[in-house]
Amino acid sequence: MFAETIHNQRDFFQTGKTKDIPFRIQQLKTLKHAIIDHEAAIFNALKADLNKPLEESFTAEIVLVVKEIQYAIKNIKNWNKPKKAQIPWQFIPASAKIYPEPLGVVLIIGAWNYPFQLVIAPLIGAIAAGNCAIIKPSEIASQTSNLIFEIFEKYFDKSYLAAIEGGVETSQHLLAEKFDHIFFTGGNAVGKIVMEAAAKQLTPVTLELGGKSPCIVDTDIDIKIAARRITWGKFFNAGQSCLAPDYLLVDRKIKNNLLDEIKQCLQEFYGENPAKSPDYARIINQKQFDRLVNYLKDLKDAKIIIGGETTSEERYIAPTVIDSVSWEDAVMQEEIFGPILPIIEFTDIKEAVNIVNSQPKPLALYLFSQNKTLQKQIIRETVFGGGCINHILIHYTVPSLPFGGTGNSGIGSYHGKAGFDTFSHYKSVLKKPFLLDVKLLYPPYEGKLSLLRRIFG
Ligand code: NAD
Repeated sequence: MFAETIHNQRDFFQTGKTKDIPFRIQQLKTLKHAIIDHEAAIFNALKADLNKPLEESFTAEIVLVVKEIQYAIKNIKNWNKPKKAQIPWQFIPASAKIYPEPLGVVLIIGAWNYPFQLVIAPLIGAIAAGNCAIIKPSEIASQTSNLIFEIFEKYFDKSYLAAIEGGVETSQHLLAEKFDHIFFTGGNAVGKIVMEAAAKQLTPVTLELGGKSPCIVDTDIDIKIAARRITWGKFFNAGQSCLAPDYLLVDRKIKNNLLDEIKQCLQEFYGENPAKSPDYARIINQKQFDRLVNYLKDLKDAKIIIGGETTSEERYIAPTVIDSVSWEDAVMQEEIFGPILPIIEFTDIKEAVNIVNSQPKPLALYLFSQNKTLQKQIIRETVFGGGCINHILIHYTVPSLPFGGTGNSGIGSYHGKAGFDTFSHYKSVLKKPFLLDVKLLYPPYEGKLSLLRRIFG
């Protein structure tokens, strides 16, 4: 079905054009201009899909990728330089270098929550590394997907970069083709399908998945600032962030104070009735809305202490905080991916560490504490994709920090140089002159073992 586009991209790749650094830089600049020129249309599409506030679209979908592009343009020559490697003295005279080279034709599949940024940010790495690419945005954010398609039709030749629109079936047809790399952002269940399809073609994958990301709150904090950052990071995009703190693990000594502060922050951010706030997004579709509402209906001993209001026609769920949850509650059994924040208290930090380590490895972990010993302890004793100390989400926006999960939360990483590396093969080449040709390595071997032992052993 897409064989022709892939075939044309392979032909274009074979011309070697994408290996030129000025070509790559030019394409990155074109992408940047395309984004800047369509800023208003991108805002509108995101508003239509998610009622995403303009400011959230600007920071999390536009500025983020524009900065990534600028960073790539600035560093591409350096990233692309062959790097000298050391060689053992036994091989002297010789030299060795590692050459980055593009993989070829790559596929990028995106999710709906940041539907623009999640296909463009990996594409930046793919372009910088010299690949041809096909991107498939999520069909669930349909307005943004349409717009991406239009932008790509206008600015890029399909035999170099193509956007393909479609849902599960399209995705599966694409996955049946041979690519040189597949970069997937989405849920764990589909991640397994993607990896299985890729295995059939021996195609390497990057999987950017989700999970339940904990946020640990110690007593040694500025409680107002901590509450503000947590509230912002959780309810940004109505909680539909792979990186959102899924649940809070709070020292019981400060739990009540923290909850009071969170309540106050919610009023400051969204007013008395968040349904009327222009700064609060909506749930993407009815299926996700129903899933989230069921969490609220299906609580055992847990209590909704803030929010809980829902309006089906608008797909509105108020910022909601739940206390006294148990791991048996449905809300604790899977990634929430919505504006519901469960609270679990601990008396000793070891309990919090044990909880984190008893769960699948999360995409993010957040710690609020000024205690340096505790900061070190959490970093040493817990496993997670990446995170922040005393803030939420913002590590994602830093191009020099590779972003990716571990274990169930993903395979591989991107952003900045990590994106370039993901879409590159590093070719190691050792070079020798004809000068000196020690016969010790060649047959007949008789009598050479003890000397080989002395030289190489
Ligand atoms: P999803 O896995 O349902 O869909 C992602 C993409 O896969 C879409 O483009 C979709 O068309 C395609 N797809 C869906 N079903 C498929 C199938 N059976 N076969 C082949 N392709 C299929 O994910 P989603 O609902 O769009 O996004 C939510 C998930 O994504 C959450 O788990 C979230 O944590 C995760 N996520 C992760 C990151 C990250 O950077 N790690 C970012 C955003 C979202």
